[in-house]
Amino acid sequence: MKSFVIAIDGPAGAGKSTVAQLVAQKLQYTYIDTGAMYRAVAWKTLQQQKPVTDALVLEVVKNIQVSLQYADGKIMVAVDGKDVSREIRTPEVTKIVSQVAKLAPVREKMVLLQRQMAAQGAVVMDGRDIASKVLPDADIKIFLTASIEERAERRWRELKGKGYKVDLAALQKEIAARDQADSEREISPLVQTADATLLDTTGMGIAEVVAVILDMCR
Ligand code: C5P
Repeated sequence: MKSFVIAIDGPAGAGKSTVAQLVAQKLQYTYIDTGAMYRAVAWKTLQQQKPVTDALVLEVVKNIQVSLQYADGKIMVAVDGKDVSREIRTPEVTKIVSQVAKLAPVREKMVLLQRQMAAQGAVVMDGRDIASKVLPDADIKIFLTASIEERAERRWRELKGKGYKVDLAALQKEIAARDQADSEREISPLVQTADATLLDTTGMGIAEVVAVILDMCR
């Protein structure tokens, strides 16, 4: 099989990272979680223990070193050499990440890194602007989504599994607000490009979604 570049975009909680990781594993490709990179910037911003302003984020992004490593089916995210893979998934980081990701200097730095990582091919990259901005020449473009109710429930189960106590209705509201911020921002908003295949996973299991994507690669 030829080596592909696969771009998966979609709203929060659509299952992008779970599906993208499994597809990458099956194909023995590299998986690049671009959301993790914006989360890394958000995490470092919170570490400053100051009110989160655009100026603070811009100061942080100037000196940050973000690296992603993908090994044994697991993604490791490091900020300035420190493994922050778990820390970037907290509700505190999730709360501010869209505010961080809307800033042009943040996006410029991350997109550059993302393109460097994808330069070898044989990658699955997921995010919001992969098909539209980061890898417009990707061989396969998928817009992965599901109903807001199902996305909220999936995220609720995931957080519950990690020991967080979260209210489902509040989580649904938060996801909807993040989707709105990501879709309405000026730079590289979340969009389904005309050449992307829409995959609505409402009611579908993970294995089924992975099988559909693998079929597209054949
Ligand atoms: O994918 P995940 O939900 O972890 O992404 C966290 C946030 O990072 C998104 O809500 C969005 O604000 C930002 N993001 C982005 N562009 C990407 C990936 C993520 O703006 N390509």
